[in-house]
Order: sequence, then structure tokens, then C-alpha cells
Amino acid sequence: MIKSFHPPLRTLMGPGPSDVHPRVLSAMARPTIGHLDPAFIGMMDEIKHLLQYALRTENPLTLPVSAPGSAGMEACFVNLVEPGDKIIVCQNGVFGGRMKENVERFGGVALMVEDAWGTAVSVDKVRHIMQQHDDIKALAFVHAETSTGVCSDARALCRLARDYGCLSIVDAVTSLGGIELDVDQWGIDALYSGTQKCLSAPPGISPVTFSERALIKISQRQTRVPSWFLDKNLVMGYWGGGAKRAYHHTAPVNALYGLHEALVMLQDEGLEQAWQRHALHHRALRDGLEAMGLQMAVAADVRLPQLNSVTIPEGIDDPRLRNALLERYGLEIGAGLGVLAGKVWRIGLMGSSCTQRHVMLCLDALENTLLELDGDIHGGRAAAAARAVYAETEH
Ligand SMILES: *Cc1c(COP(=O)(O)O)cnc(C)c1O
Repeated sequence: MIKSFHPPLRTLMGPGPSDVHPRVLSAMARPTIGHLDPAFIGMMDEIKHLLQYALRTENPLTLPVSAPGSAGMEACFVNLVEPGDKIIVCQNGVFGGRMKENVERFGGVALMVEDAWGTAVSVDKVRHIMQQHDDIKALAFVHAETSTGVCSDARALCRLARDYGCLSIVDAVTSLGGIELDVDQWGIDALYSGTQKCLSAPPGISPVTFSERALIKISQRQTRVPSWFLDKNLVMGYWGGGAKRAYHHTAPVNALYGLHEALVMLQDEGLEQAWQRHALHHRALRDGLEAMGLQMAVAADVRLPQLNSVTIPEGIDDPRLRNALLERYGLEIGAGLGVLAGKVWRIGLMGSSCTQRHVMLCLDALENTLLELDGDIHGGRAAAAARAVYAETEH
């Protein structure tokens, strides 16, 4: 007989999912009601307002897609790309490559701007390619590249898109809730995010928002949106219809209770306070790691606080170390991806996984395990270095 599944207790400090807050988990255990129940519709409207707050936008077309971040990505591209459209796609890690896939599958032409993994998207290279073409339809890039831990200058890139009369499509899966993000101020036209990174909710939902300019482009399409499920014109009848909501698909009712609670928590904490919290715990983790003798893999000026790439010291068996962390401490950290596989660890400090407890546990577990594996590090210094950062902020 197969029995009920009880997951092991873990502390999630990888690239996502991050720890889900108990308030969010208990919200999800509340009774399921009909998705056209007036009470549920009221909650959907609140989610929309909370998302507008979190994204700093007044866009009426702001809603959670009932599927993971990758579906939010697809929702942006499938609605905004038509056959033959030239789209600049910036790639400096894994996720830019997926944007290219999306553009090409929907018949667009991807003009690639490539930068090395571990560096930011070059605004100059983007400007250069915009100067060479006068028919670019959109600029697509990843704000927070989770595969490397790099932050690109979304404000400058979106301004460039405006200056050259094209739309901007932004991957904010890891940035939302963790670092500054200002949809209206920066002039972002289409954005998708996720719930399992800095929002402290489980995976499976993708907040998206579309600007007025993006809606005009959608309304002027010559061809039908090639996806039924993600066609914004149809979804709007469900999310935007107020009381006369039309059935489109059955919303993931309990998952949306969870998102609602996560967004209420973000609102209670305050958006800027959440950004400051990520910055603080990042500094403590960084000082602890450096006191141990480890090195951050990404330059300080483009480093993400919520995803820390750390160079693996010479001679350390990467899978063995990560397995030891998981088995002995219940601690998950992320492996390097692509060209960084085996070269870095990715330590996430996202949402509910961004606390002093997480920082201290990670430093302690990493230090002990590295010493056991004969790693060339300094023992006994990391915790004090991290504590010094916290002490500084207390007065
Ligand atoms: C996690 C992530 C995604 C994909 O989200 P899923 O929920 O796994 O589909 C996309 N982009 C970035 C930058 C991410 O970190």
C-alpha cells in the first residue's frame, strides 16, 4: 500500500523554491470555494490590487497566470510577438535562452545581445543594435538572472526601449519582492514573475502585467494569438470582468489563497522594507563567507542580494558537499548551471528564506562541512563577521 506523502523538513536556500511562510501554507489549507463565488471574486480583486502595489503599477491588466513563471514568460511572448517581428533578446544566463526559444516559436526573429554568464546585460550593446535597425518591435531581458546571480539595469534598458519606440518585456521572476522594481516609473511594457522566489509562496503561479502600449500592440495584431489559454483578450473576460465574470478556466483556488496571503505579508512589511531586508541579510552572508575565505563569483556592483553565487574552493567535491548539507542540516543550496556548473554554488536568500536564522545556519553548515572535507578555509570567523553586520544595524 502506498501511504500519504510527508516531505522531509528542509531549509530552502537555493534558486527557488524558497521557504514558504507558515501563514501562506495555512491560508492554502482553508476550504475550497467555487471560483465564481462572489467571495472568491472579491479576493481576486484584492490580489490584483496587491500585485499592482508590489509591482508599482496602475496597469489594469495585472493578474496572476494560473501556471508557473515559465507560463508567464510564454504569456508575454505569445501575445506580443507576431510572425516576422524583430525582437532584441539579451542573454547573460539560462533564462535569456528561453526568451529566444519563445520568440522563435511564435515566428519572431530574435536579435541576440550576448554577455558573459556572471556579467550584466550591456546597455551599450543594446543601444548599438537598436541604432542599426529601425523596425525593432520589442526588447526582452532578464532583470535578475537566477542562473548566475546578476542584476541588469532594468531602468536603463526600458528607457532605451522607449527612446527607440519599442516595447520592453522583462523577466522579474526573481526580482519581485527582493530588489527595487518599478513598473510604471521605469516604463516596463510587459512583465512576468513567479511566486516561489521572493514572494514566499509555493511555485505554480505567475504574476504578469501589461502596459497600455502593450495592449495597443495586442489589439493591433494581424494574426490570432496562437495560444488559447494564454490569450490575454480571453483571460481579461475572467480577471477583468468585475461581477459579470465569464468562465475561462477554473482558477487554482487554494493556490490563490496562498498568493493573497503572501502579498498581504509583503504589504504589511512594506515593499522598501522587504528590499532592505534582502540587502541586509545579503551583507551578513557575504561578510561571513568572505571571513571564511570564500569568494563571491559576481562583481559587487551587479550582485543580486537574493541569489549569491559563491566560487567553489579548489579540491572540493561539489555534489558531495551539497549532499552533506542536505542530509545533515536539511539545508538545500543550489548548484551552478551551464558554464558555471561545478564552479559555483548558488545560495538563495529569497522571501521567507531571507532571515538571520537562515544566514547563520548556512554559514555554520557550510563551514563545518568544508572543514570536514579538508577545504582550505578559515574556521571560526564566519559567524562573528555576520553578527558584526547585524550589530551595526541595531543602533
Ligand atoms: C525560476 C525562474 C523562471 C522560471 O520560473 P518557473 O516558475 O520555474 O517556471 C524564469 N526566470 C527566472 C529568472 C527564474 O529565476
